[in-house]
Amino acid sequence: MSDLELMAGAVLTIDLGAVVDNYRHIQQQVGPAEVAGVVKADAYGLGAVPVSQALAEAGCRRFFVAHLQEALSLRPALTPDATLYVLNGLQPGAEPIAAEAGVTPVLNSLDQIDRWRNAARDLGRPLPAALQFDTGMSRLGLPSEEAAELTASPERLTGIDLRLIMSHLACADDLQAPSNPAQAAAFDAFAAQYPDVPRSLDNSGGAFLPRGHRDVVRAGIALYGGAPQIGQPNPMRSVVTLDARIIQVRDVPAGTGVGYGLTSVADHPRRIATIAVGYADGWPRHLGGRGSAFIDGRRVPIAGRVSMDSITLDVTGIAPQHLRPGAPVELLGPHQTIDDVAADAGTISYEILTQLGGRYARRYQPAHEPAPARSPQS
Ligand SMILES: *Cc1c(COP(=O)(O)O)cnc(C)c1O
Repeated sequence: MSDLELMAGAVLTIDLGAVVDNYRHIQQQVGPAEVAGVVKADAYGLGAVPVSQALAEAGCRRFFVAHLQEALSLRPALTPDATLYVLNGLQPGAEPIAAEAGVTPVLNSLDQIDRWRNAARDLGRPLPAALQFDTGMSRLGLPSEEAAELTASPERLTGIDLRLIMSHLACADDLQAPSNPAQAAAFDAFAAQYPDVPRSLDNSGGAFLPRGHRDVVRAGIALYGGAPQIGQPNPMRSVVTLDARIIQVRDVPAGTGVGYGLTSVADHPRRIATIAVGYADGWPRHLGGRGSAFIDGRRVPIAGRVSMDSITLDVTGIAPQHLRPGAPVELLGPHQTIDDVAADAGTISYEILTQLGGRYARRYQPAHEPAPARSPQS
């Protein structure tokens, strides 16, 4: 164990080989469509630079972040042939920064289109963009009135080099949702006006809907091991493990309260172990009294509230050799997935990952994959 790992409350291990396996699995699922890597929010908390570089080595050439600032910090880590899209588009005034940095905004409104066209005119060169239509989620993208206005005045796109037509599904993680075919039909109708531009509709959930996947799939959570579909077996490999260590163990008599508010009291004696992970590390406070950890493969419930920097576990019945100071405690791993923790906490795996805190020691397992051979013609 390194000094950094000795000093931290827990070790977060990120398996880049599993990310690459998941990328290939999605690619098999959606081929001939191409899989793009969604690496917003620091690749869902796992590190945008190492994750993007592992994906690039596996052949990924399109990446999506949410904010321009994320794009600026990731751009130098990518090769020039990689396209980096900014999902939320650009704030008014940020156009020259994006143009200079060589990033591709997603244009979500006529206003954004006008500002990007003006930036292209001012620079005297075409600027790349993706165009998003709102097909029913009411979040981002041209609403149908604006889409009709654009159809009526195509000159508004002068100087804009359209690289992608996209939309986003509201219920892609639900195989039965009637909004999925409705959004797909609306999307195809819009996209038909731009027959030469690649189309992108599906995220991780969409990749596992039993139908075609247009030209580009924007995969996020499935790359990181999250279940793409609710209520279906998860075909993805787990990417993260989180191992805490025992810092102290005590025996408490029956009737003794544990933790803030003394909310956990039992009518029998208990053995309580404290670990150095808390809600400041992104472990949800909502797991107080309902979450679990695993020691030597056995479930140990969280006793009492989650503190800022520590959690108390009921380890009654666990063999003493597994309770020594420094002994490992699994928070994420073979016995507990990000989806399990999310279910206990009443949230989704996305939130568990993106909240993973900055105080963990991080260990990256490399993908160990040679770069794919480039064909001489390309
Ligand atoms: C976040 C996001 C994605 C990735 O979604 P996952 O469900 O994580 O695969 C794709 N497209 C858009 C527009 C997004 O905002």
